[in-house]
Amino acid sequence: MADAKTDDPAGAVSSETPVISIDGLKKSFGDLEVLKGVDLSVTRGEVVCVIGPSGSGKSTLLRCVNLLEEPTAGKIVVSGTELTDPDCDIDAARTRIGMVFQQFNLFAHLNVLDNLTIAQRKVLGRGKEESERVAKSNLERVGLSDKASAMPAQLSGGQQQRAAIARALSMNPDVMLFDEPTSALDPELVGDVLGVMRGLAEEGMTMLVVTHEMQFAREVADTVLFMDGGYVVEQGDPAQVIGAPRERRTKEFLARVL
Ligand code: ADP
Ligand code: MG
Repeated sequence: MADAKTDDPAGAVSSETPVISIDGLKKSFGDLEVLKGVDLSVTRGEVVCVIGPSGSGKSTLLRCVNLLEEPTAGKIVVSGTELTDPDCDIDAARTRIGMVFQQFNLFAHLNVLDNLTIAQRKVLGRGKEESERVAKSNLERVGLSDKASAMPAQLSGGQQQRAAIARALSMNPDVMLFDEPTSALDPELVGDVLGVMRGLAEEGMTMLVVTHEMQFAREVADTVLFMDGGYVVEQGDPAQVIGAPRERRTKEFLARVL
C-alpha cells in the first residue's frame, strides 16, 4: 500500500494533503448529541477502518462526510472543498465521494449496466458509449462482467453489493465510504465483497470503512479508529489498536467481538 500512496493522481497535490479532513465535528439529533467532537484525517491512498459498538456514531460520521446529515458544528473538507461552507456546491462535491451502504440500494427496476450508467449520464453528463465503457470496466473490476444485463433481484446479496461498489466507482470518486458493507450478507458471501475492497485498497483507493470485520481491518487498514459514545477513543495502526489496545473501552469492545 505504501507504493500506492506515491501514485498521486492529483499531481500537484502532495500525497500528504488529506483527502478527508475533519475538525471538531459535532452532530446532534434534537437533545441527543451523537458526535461530540470528532477529528479525522485521511490521506490519499490511506485505508481507515472505523470500529466500535452499535450506536457509537459510526454511521452518522460517514453520513456527515457526504452531507446526508448536516453537521451541528465543525469543519469537513473533502478533496480541498469545504463541505461545511454554506456556499459549497454540495451536489458537485458529492460526486467525488462514493458511498456503499449495508443495504445495497440498487435501482430494482434497472438492470446492472443501467444501474452503473444512470448517474454517470445524469450527473456527470457522460454519453451512452463512455458511460457503458466505464461501467463495464468497473464490473470487471468487481468480478461481474457476465452480469451486465441481469436485474438486481437475480443476483445474490454479495453480487448486488459488488454491483453497488462498481456503481460508486463508475463516478471516479476521490474517496470511497463504506458503511458495514458486509453486515447484511450471508456469511459465505462476505469474502467476495471483502476481496473486492481489498483489491481497491491495493490499487491505492482512499477508503473510510465502518466494519465489524476485524480480520479485514487488521490486514487492510493503515489506520484503525475506535469510536465509542460519539468520540474517537483510540486510533493508530491496526496491530496496536486491535492487537494491543491501550484504552479500557477498546479492550472491552474487542473482548466482545473477537
Ligand atoms: P452506529 O452506526 O455506530 O451504530 P449511528 O451513527 O447509527 O451509530 O447512531 C448513533 C446514535 O444516533 C444512535 O443512538 C441512533 O439512535 C442515533 N441516530 C442516528 N440517526 C438518527 C436520526 N436520524 N434521528 C435521531 N437519532 C438518530
Ligand atoms: Mg451504523
